[in-house]
Amino acid sequence: MGFELTEEQMDIKKAVREFCEKEFTPELGLELDRKEDYPRELYKKAAKLGFTSIRFPEEYGGQGYGILEECLVTEEMCRADPGIGVAVVSGTFGSDIIMEHGTEEQKKKYIPPLCKGEFISALACTEPAHGSDITRMDTTAVKSGDEWLINGLKTFITNASVANFFQVLCQTDPKVTPSYRGESLIVVDGDTYGVDVTQLKDKMGIRPAVTGEVSFSDVKVPEDNLIGELNRGFYQVMGFFDLSRIPIAAQAVGMAQGAFERSFNYAKEREQFGSPIIQFQAIQFKLAEMATKIEAARLLTYKAAWLADQGKIDPMITSMAKAFASRTAMEVTDEAIQIYGGYGYMGDYHIERFHRCAKITEIYEGTTEIQKLTIMRYLLKRM
Ligand SMILES: Cc1cc2nc3c(=O)[nH]c(=O)nc-3n(C[C@H](O)[C@H](O)[C@H](O)COP(=O)(O)OP(=O)(O)OC[C@H]3O[C@@H](n4cnc5c(N)ncnc54)[C@H](O)[C@@H]3O)c2cc1C
Repeated sequence: MGFELTEEQMDIKKAVREFCEKEFTPELGLELDRKEDYPRELYKKAAKLGFTSIRFPEEYGGQGYGILEECLVTEEMCRADPGIGVAVVSGTFGSDIIMEHGTEEQKKKYIPPLCKGEFISALACTEPAHGSDITRMDTTAVKSGDEWLINGLKTFITNASVANFFQVLCQTDPKVTPSYRGESLIVVDGDTYGVDVTQLKDKMGIRPAVTGEVSFSDVKVPEDNLIGELNRGFYQVMGFFDLSRIPIAAQAVGMAQGAFERSFNYAKEREQFGSPIIQFQAIQFKLAEMATKIEAARLLTYKAAWLADQGKIDPMITSMAKAFASRTAMEVTDEAIQIYGGYGYMGDYHIERFHRCAKITEIYEGTTEIQKLTIMRYLLKRM
């Protein structure tokens, strides 16, 4: 991988930046953070410009680019506003699974409306008793004639209250050992009888990216709603995470970059003891360290993306990128608040929001501890 983006990649970055500067105003960011509302109109606008379908094939209405381009879009959106950014890029969350493993009928039904911004998707794995460890699911899907009968409860599901469909990880064989060999993914439309959604309010951050609980009570769906092969759901989800963790690292890089730029500009303007605070070496050192960490996190993220785009996906590098970029986002956004002093603690100054939002990147799609386990697993194999 060269150290420079191609002209086309720079154009994508520029187009997203222009869009966000116009649409993701700080005032809107604060308003949606307080209301915890999904920015549906913005999601549609971003979809019209192709930003939300960057990686879907052109024949299904997408743009046909790779993970690196998805990272560029994600980074710019989260740089502009961490909450709106995550909400907009998560509108199509999890649907790569249908794209990769679904039947032609499933792809035709779900992917083109997603690319147009008419549909929002969700991936439902987590349950109250199964978070990091999804090797057994309490949600069951039992074959009854030519239908699946689904019962169970999923929690912390991104887009739950706005999703048109859920890809649900179910236990289809409760007896097999190990139990993950008995898990399957089944697609369930949001308006199916027996599906009940409750929005989980008062999250720490990424509040416009709505989260909810989804319960399935005797939900019946046709047998054709199985995604891919029976009892391969766990493997499909793990394969998805190997890729999807890279744009999460990009979320973290974008949030760090946004907070860094704001605090840099603030330090130039804010005067104390007769000079702009950026003249104080203590502040300069903070800014220099913040910029260095962001650059390192970005390079690791781009490397993970580039490897995946070359068909040489490396889960160790991906986990390194996610763990390092998310820690960087926490550290940089913390220092950004420090540079703002007391103003940084106030919502109206739009910097504490970055810190609150950054935390999720250390938790979802595998916590940092889980990333470190993956890194070690590969190190032990390779060294
Ligand atoms: C805002 C938000 C959105 C989300 N969106 C989705 C979604 O769309 N779909 C979905 O399915 N899920 C989603 N999740 C769930 C998320 O993936 C889980 O919260 C996450 O995987 C951790 O699971 P847990 O919360 O149950 O924590 P636990 O698994 O209970 O972990 C608690 C602590 O123990 C640590 N730990 C666990 N196992 C080990 C181990 N083996 N070694 C060392 N430490 C360990 C963890 O790292 C953590 O620090 C979302 C969560 C949030 C908060």
